[in-house]
Amino acid sequence: RGKRAFIAGVADDNGYGWAIAKALAAAGAEILVGTWVPALNIFENSLRRGKFDESRTLPDGSLMEISKVYPLDAVYDTLEEVPEDVKTNKRYAGSSNWTVKEVAESVKNDFGTIDILVHSLANGPEVTKPLLETSRKGYLTAISASSYSYVSLLKHFLPIMNPGGASISLTYIASERTIPGYGGGMSSAKAALESDTRVLAFEAGRAGKIRVNTISAGPLGSRAAKAIGFIEKMINYSYTNGPMQKELAADEVGATAAFLVSPLASAVTGSVVYVDNGLNTMAWHP
Ligand code: NAD
Repeated sequence: RGKRAFIAGVADDNGYGWAIAKALAAAGAEILVGTWVPALNIFENSLRRGKFDESRTLPDGSLMEISKVYPLDAVYDTLEEVPEDVKTNKRYAGSSNWTVKEVAESVKNDFGTIDILVHSLANGPEVTKPLLETSRKGYLTAISASSYSYVSLLKHFLPIMNPGGASISLTYIASERTIPGYGGGMSSAKAALESDTRVLAFEAGRAGKIRVNTISAGPLGSRAAKAIGFIEKMINYSYTNGPMQKELAADEVGATAAFLVSPLASAVTGSVVYVDNGLNTMAWHP
């Protein structure tokens, strides 16, 4: 039987989630995605109208099939805790069952089990603000959307993950080295995500023989990254100063993701794996 993957955080064909979906599809996995509720309509319409057909093309010439797109807002765990103004918001009212618990239940009802869980989402409303100017609310929202969202997804999907399965998330080196401009508590959120990767690897390993790793990816001009404001500079800096002097393709992160969730990585868990053309290893840039 082929493996089944749920990838949270796909809303267009530019980001890491999409590239990971493609790499897993190319390796024979069935693909389910979770798409942020406010982005759902545009994503589904674009898919239906064939806007992604070129970028859906796999190495063998076939098109990646997405078995089902689930609306998801990973900031909410259960329907009970969704505030009234969100429930009645125009963009949310048209969809249902999009809290983490409900999505896991829907996937269970539709497909029974999964083998692979991917977290490729982040949100920090004050990302452009320095940490010293970040509000408590902005900081906690960054942590909720970018870090606890992973704890919650793994908690709710673990019971339907087949033993031997694996999970990954995406992180950024601003967690461990200062990157001025990656603000709003996003650096804090990535530090939490990396620490949680180690603890969750232990807990999910013991509870369900599930491996948990995170990929520390180099800069990519995704939709989320453009919101930070200086992504082109980061990409140029990485190109100029890294050991490889080459651009980072999203597909290279996809390939590492496919490796990490495959039996080839059966002894790798709790790790932060760098896919950044080696930039993290440099301390001085000649
Ligand atoms: P992206 O825009 O493709 O992905 C982010 C996704 O998160 C979007 O689809 C967005 O709709 C979704 N999202 C936001 N809030 C959500 C919520 N509450 N519930 C559900 N979904 C929500 O951008 P990306 O850069 O590919 O980001 C994917 C991951 O990669 C993120 O964790 C990001 O921090 C990480 N990352 C990105 C870079 C980079 O330079 N682009 C570098 C390192 C790590």
